[in-house]
Amino acid sequence: MARVTPQMSRAMVRFYAELNDLVVPERRFRDSEVEFAGSPAVKDVIESLGVPHGEIDLLLVNGRSAGFAERLHDGDRVAVYPMFEGFDVATVTSVRAAPLREPRFVLDGHLGRLAAYLRMLGFDVLWEQQPSDMDLARISAEERRILLTRDRGLLKRKQVTHGLFVRATHPEKQLREVVERLHLQRLARPFSRCLRCNGALASVPLAEVSAELPPKVRERVQEVRRCTGCRKLYWAGTHHDQMSAMIRRVLV
Ligand SMILES: [Zn+2]
Repeated sequence: MARVTPQMSRAMVRFYAELNDLVVPERRFRDSEVEFAGSPAVKDVIESLGVPHGEIDLLLVNGRSAGFAERLHDGDRVAVYPMFEGFDVATVTSVRAAPLREPRFVLDGHLGRLAAYLRMLGFDVLWEQQPSDMDLARISAEERRILLTRDRGLLKRKQVTHGLFVRATHPEKQLREVVERLHLQRLARPFSRCLRCNGALASVPLAEVSAELPPKVRERVQEVRRCTGCRKLYWAGTHHDQMSAMIRRVLV
């Protein structure tokens, strides 16, 4: 008689930062598959891989924050973040019931295009052309901003607890890298922030601003937003289509 074996399901699991010290080398710093029967709690599956739940601050299942008791299903993707203090990575509820958090960033002077692109996706980004390393580290620590840099030395500073070394050199690839590594896809709010000054954009009635618009724009534009910081006006112009296309490529 054939033995009935339970249908095995598979999920992809990725551990971040120092949690990788706790898992076998094959699972370090990469997506790796885990097999399970039924729909176990995510906590049990992760602990079976060697990571005690007490080490974990934040769990994402399919990009959404999850509690330890959440059940795993076939095809799920799990991201597991360690307890490093206040990993400001997502507007998510951590397993420790921390308040909702929004990822915010400070970028080094070489990442100006990336800064604009992240703002284009709606993220709060501080960037100056020539900041000192000391200021970058201080701002990151004091304002709890994730420091993005191409300078590994900067990330070794003791103050910096939330940092990411950006590997790519091409700005769009950098954007994709940051979005993917920090799971920002669902947190993006495209065209909600000023690319120039990082201010929030607010819709304004067309009648109120029509005098400020070029005549050709006035005729065809449907919606205009104004930066609450520098007052610059934004509308869907020629750059908009290119940016929309890039956003679609990056947020897939
Ligand atoms: Zn502005």
